[in-house]
Amino acid sequence: MSLELRQVSVDYGSTRAVDSVSVTVETGTVLALVGPSGCGKSSLLRAIAGLVPLAGGAVAWDGDELTARPTEQRDLGFMFQDHALFTHRNVADNVGFGLRMRGVSAVERKARVQELLAMVGLDGFEARSVEDLSGGEAQRVALARALAPKPRILLLDEPLASLDRARRDELNDELARLLRELRQTAIYVTHDQDEAFAIADQVGVMRAGKLVRIGTPAEVWNDPRNEFVARFVGHESIIERGGQRFAVRDDAVQFVDQGSGIAATVATCRFQGDRYRIVAVDATGVRWSGWSSRALDVDAWVGVVLDEHRLAPLD
Ligand code: ADP
Repeated sequence: MSLELRQVSVDYGSTRAVDSVSVTVETGTVLALVGPSGCGKSSLLRAIAGLVPLAGGAVAWDGDELTARPTEQRDLGFMFQDHALFTHRNVADNVGFGLRMRGVSAVERKARVQELLAMVGLDGFEARSVEDLSGGEAQRVALARALAPKPRILLLDEPLASLDRARRDELNDELARLLRELRQTAIYVTHDQDEAFAIADQVGVMRAGKLVRIGTPAEVWNDPRNEFVARFVGHESIIERGGQRFAVRDDAVQFVDQGSGIAATVATCRFQGDRYRIVAVDATGVRWSGWSSRALDVDAWVGVVLDEHRLAPLD
């Protein structure tokens, strides 16, 4: 079973926001849509939801056309940056809202709400007012609410964007674990490459309305294929060897003592956990970024050795 997008396009007046995107999302997998602001991620999500009309193409679930169906008949769950909880209701009523709409009995609802709150780490929060929740807690409630009716597909649009960095990382990890455990089919929109890579089975990189690369996080990182994607995933330099262009992955770069390799000077050295992130610049201006187990002095000379097998060829 799968969600299938066939040449989906979205227009706003004369602006083409999504340009003929085709992709298949297998049941139980998470697709992260990434790309810079304005590239069409949210519009594509809205097209799947039926919140904007298609200018072309089709959306289908397992061969069953959804294109003509209104949003509420597509069996979707939503989690957006602005969690839009009902502020005059308590946590339990918020989480149970979709179940109530579907006529689930009060007894069943209570049990399911309890189960969902435990799942998102909010055991015992039933009677709390949503106005007293922290940002992270509110997003957990929003997630529980979205999952409650067991939607076929969960659509998430920058769900963590309003949280601070620490809270965001924590919730991102939990979300990743939960979606995997539930085998929840999901589409996750974010401009944050780290967030996408942490959560996704497949990453789709968009640019100017087009899907320019799709693959597992490892495939996209190892072999970005085009320069835009290479830069988006953080490969800083593009070099040429024998007429072929390559993105320089940071695992291709090794820093050695001055005197061997390409001579370069250390531009930055930043401690990151158990190693140092180094950027060194050579005489031709190429920036070599990679890792070192020891700190290097800024402005000092180093040698850069390249593992040519780890260069990613570009189209
Ligand atoms: P992203 O989610 O990647 O930031 P969007 O899907 O929001 O991108 O926007 C894609 C393009 O469509 C942008 O050029 C944006 O300005 C335009 N756009 C988005 N929503 C509307 C709208 N309601 N009316 C007109 N243009 C829009």
